[in-house]
Amino acid sequence: MEVEVITLFPEMVEQGLSAGVPRIAREAGALRLTTRNPRDYADNRHRTVDDRPFGGGPGMVMQAPPMVASIEAARGIHAEAPVIAMSPQGAPLNQAWLQKLSELPAMILLCGRYEGLDERITPHIDIEISLGDFVLSGGELAAMAIIDGVARLLPGVLGHKDSAKEDSFVEDLLDCPHYTRPASWRGVSVPEVLLSGDHARIRQWRLQQALGATWLKRPDLLGRVTLCDEWEALLADFIEQQQSVRKVQA
Ligand code: SAH
Repeated sequence: MEVEVITLFPEMVEQGLSAGVPRIAREAGALRLTTRNPRDYADNRHRTVDDRPFGGGPGMVMQAPPMVASIEAARGIHAEAPVIAMSPQGAPLNQAWLQKLSELPAMILLCGRYEGLDERITPHIDIEISLGDFVLSGGELAAMAIIDGVARLLPGVLGHKDSAKEDSFVEDLLDCPHYTRPASWRGVSVPEVLLSGDHARIRQWRLQQALGATWLKRPDLLGRVTLCDEWEALLADFIEQQQSVRKVQA
């Protein structure tokens, strides 16, 4: 996948994506990352790309000409790529978005700064994505979050081909708890089922724990899915176990 990031801070994006999974994805050729700085398209000696807002008010606004010139240059290389602007007004980022984006051959991510973009840039934007209901000082962290989340979904990037399939949110459920060596530590042992070698039981335990974690921590997610009879029964059993633990503790 080809990703181009239009940003006033290309070194921030480059550096942030030069470790861990994004780095592996880049080295494997699954992810090709380029950056483009709107300052290179400024029409003045000082490479200024922002100016005061018409009508007054605080802060500076990113000017349309250098931003749109950057978008057009990026489009010249990645003709079919959607232009995705980072914006607190965009669609909230979630796993379904990452999955959809990871299937694209290319995308162009646009990072704002200051008070935001001149409105005349908007017709050149296809999608707006938000990291959440809060305001950051720039779009770079949002672009990096998208690229990190997408990189781990690209074919061949994660060691195990099913790793990403069992993560939180993939089936509207949170992930199950994980354990590694030592099997017993500070008097706490790993659940016996995980040492049993019985893969059917392990799968069932993990599913039940995932359902339980979602019920405990994010009940809103469970409201979105219709549980089949098996999942319903596993969750009912989890809830009952929780209640008996509470009774013992009381
Ligand atoms: N005045 C704007 C905020 C501008 S913040 C408003 O209130 O809507 C400057 C830039 O940071 C934005 O252009 C955007 O690219 C980025 N940004 C800020 N918060 C963000 C968020 N929650 N998600 C994605 N990008 C964000």
